[in-house]
Amino acid sequence: MELGETMNHNTERSGRRSQNADRLNISFEFFPPKSKDMEDGLWESIERLVPLSPNFVSVTYGAGGSTRERTHDVVARLVKETDIKPAAHLTCVGASRVEVNEVIRSYADCGVKHIVALRGDPAEGVGSRYVPHDGGYVNGADLVAGIRSLGDFEVSVSAYPEKHPESPDFAMDIEMLRQKVDAGATRAITQFFFDNDLYEGYVERVRRAGIFIPIVPGILPIHNFKQMANFAGRTGASVPQWLANRFEGLDKDPETHRLVAAAIAAEQVQDLRERGIDDFHFYTMNRANLSYAICHLLGLRPALAQVA
Ligand code: FAD
Repeated sequence: MELGETMNHNTERSGRRSQNADRLNISFEFFPPKSKDMEDGLWESIERLVPLSPNFVSVTYGAGGSTRERTHDVVARLVKETDIKPAAHLTCVGASRVEVNEVIRSYADCGVKHIVALRGDPAEGVGSRYVPHDGGYVNGADLVAGIRSLGDFEVSVSAYPEKHPESPDFAMDIEMLRQKVDAGATRAITQFFFDNDLYEGYVERVRRAGIFIPIVPGILPIHNFKQMANFAGRTGASVPQWLANRFEGLDKDPETHRLVAAAIAAEQVQDLRERGIDDFHFYTMNRANLSYAICHLLGLRPALAQVA
């Protein structure tokens, strides 16, 4: 059976979620593969996660626009072979408005209706000063406006529970979010975080500022604690000491690492559920196992298991 056939068959069957999961909206994020092996792994992960009926799946845009074609190829295949709604990430880095507009039009042409609009990081790397490309979109808000002017797209944007590293304070950070919403963004997906109080505090600030779009928590199941901690340092996401303690001594014990990671992510999403959160965006890292397990704990079941 073709991959696409499996997916269409599964998601056709509605009523596929257990009762307490009825109000849940989940989405999964993938990155475009660099090699044939990685490509196989990506599509296996998609095939495993799609029967959980995500609201959408998104595909990232490599730093500096380096994956322009590969992102497009994955998204176009999702449109062609599945009935899930893909969202294409897009950044402003290193490209003129004309070039970025071409990418937006190519998405419209292949039936993509949802774009995750981002400024992106400087080509020199996170931490260096961001300089917009000559004649390019200057930031996320500017890009949202451009996308909305070119078609009837749903546009999601980023949000930072611990503020973006370039924001001097929360007021400035939330002002940037407001500009993105005013330009037409209808959903924000957060940077990953591990302390739910930080997320809740951030959402309260956003609501007090009169911004009422969904602020969907970005959940990162930890596949490799060391790599995650390195990456977090560059994105402004804090890694609490209690989290480091839980992974202590597990560098060479992948099995226990996996079990601990699943338990931690499950605790985080259960706690967010108790705080009234119904929407979750999973950073899958192109691996299905942890995201699948957490969704199972949230009460989600694949279509065929429900029917049987
Ligand atoms: P913006 O929201 O435009 O701005 C971020 C910050 O920059 C602002 O908060 C502010 O501090 C400062 N800033 C921007 N404009 C101004 C201004 N005019 N004046 C003063 N300050 C300003 N990166 C990728 O390369 N590819 C991806 O696919 C990708 N996907 C992501 C998905 C999510 C959900 C998230 C949270 C991040 C993602 N990123 C991705 C990372 C993102 O590109 C970086 O965090 C980048 O540094 C900021 O992009 P942004 O869209 O958040 O920027």
